[in-house]
Amino acid sequence: MARISSRTAGFQESVIRRMTRVAQQTGAVNLSQGFPDFDPPQPLMEALRRTAEKGPHQYAVTWGAANFREALAQKQGRFTGLPIDPESHIVVTCGSTEAMMAAMMSVTEPGDKVIVFSPFYENYAADAVLTGAEPLYVPLLPPSFEIDVQALRAAFAQGPRAVILCNPGNPTGKVFRRDELLEIGRLAEAADAWVITDEVYEHIVYEPCRHTYFAALPGMFERTITCGSLSKTFSITGWRLGYLIAPESVVQAARKIHDFLTVGAPAPLQEAAVTALQFPDEYYAGLKDRYARQRSLFLNILCDAKLKHTEPEGAYYVLADISEFGAPSDTWFAEWMAREAGVAAVPGSSFFHEKEDRYVRFHFAKKEETLIEAGRRLKKIRELYRPGPTRPKGA
Ligand code: GLN
Repeated sequence: MARISSRTAGFQESVIRRMTRVAQQTGAVNLSQGFPDFDPPQPLMEALRRTAEKGPHQYAVTWGAANFREALAQKQGRFTGLPIDPESHIVVTCGSTEAMMAAMMSVTEPGDKVIVFSPFYENYAADAVLTGAEPLYVPLLPPSFEIDVQALRAAFAQGPRAVILCNPGNPTGKVFRRDELLEIGRLAEAADAWVITDEVYEHIVYEPCRHTYFAALPGMFERTITCGSLSKTFSITGWRLGYLIAPESVVQAARKIHDFLTVGAPAPLQEAAVTALQFPDEYYAGLKDRYARQRSLFLNILCDAKLKHTEPEGAYYVLADISEFGAPSDTWFAEWMAREAGVAAVPGSSFFHEKEDRYVRFHFAKKEETLIEAGRRLKKIRELYRPGPTRPKGA
């Protein structure tokens, strides 16, 4: 057999996506991969129907259709207070997954160091391996996920090219405070490093927390690459519409990468999504309310099931502590839970660089009835539980 490139040897297949397949095979309620089971907003679906009739059905401009970039610049300008230029500051990508990869490829050389807070969304490790960058992991200390400031300073002292910041955080639910962000900004400035942000949950933040856009901090626009998406904000994860917003020099590089990787994000979906980007402020208030209700319903469900858990400040993930079960591993537990208890979650270890298998991650971007059904099943979890193979010594 001809050889397989060693490029993919340094990371594994997505555990999140694997758990969705396990959920499908076992018929479990899928609270693993974070995506809604409710419809996108009606006016957006109507816009999609209209677009099916009138097009466009051919390529858009590779870095994004002009009307989409215009609407996006206005929307992000409104929320961030920044003068975002649709011509020079935006690349529209296939989801923020591509935006993050394009950002990393635009600013790192192979061998460069990149700071990643741990726990982290699993794509970042793969992004680092694929770009040849070396991740420097900085712990966010559970249960409140405060930054390990010593470790952060030590990591910046190693001269990293960039720091990746997921805010609001997946899987932590952490909404970084302004003082924490200012400190990251000061360190990035001193090290002359880029700040690559993943802000796909910008509109899913719970009272009294507020989202602070990193690029909008004083002097930070010039050093920030903001990656965002329409997936979570408009409940359209399958449309794969994301973007990066950055200073012109980064955009020039990212456009080339994007052009040769994917040519462009789907033209008809960009056209339809202009409608969503023009939604008024009430839409965002409604989205917040909806998720606040789902959050409190799901946290109550976990309390009823007597599962210890984190309380997210933003995004829609909860880490539940499963250490009391003494399972052989969190992966074993997650698979057992999908199969026997009928609820799928993601083993927490896939988000941590440190050896940590105390958690499974649930998400609550689901209809009330789906969450209630999951709750009914979770309530029986202790009754059903049979310890698996003995936990290996010292594990
Ligand atoms: N961001 C979502 C999650 O963490 C979906 C991930 C994905 O599969 N793209 O579950």
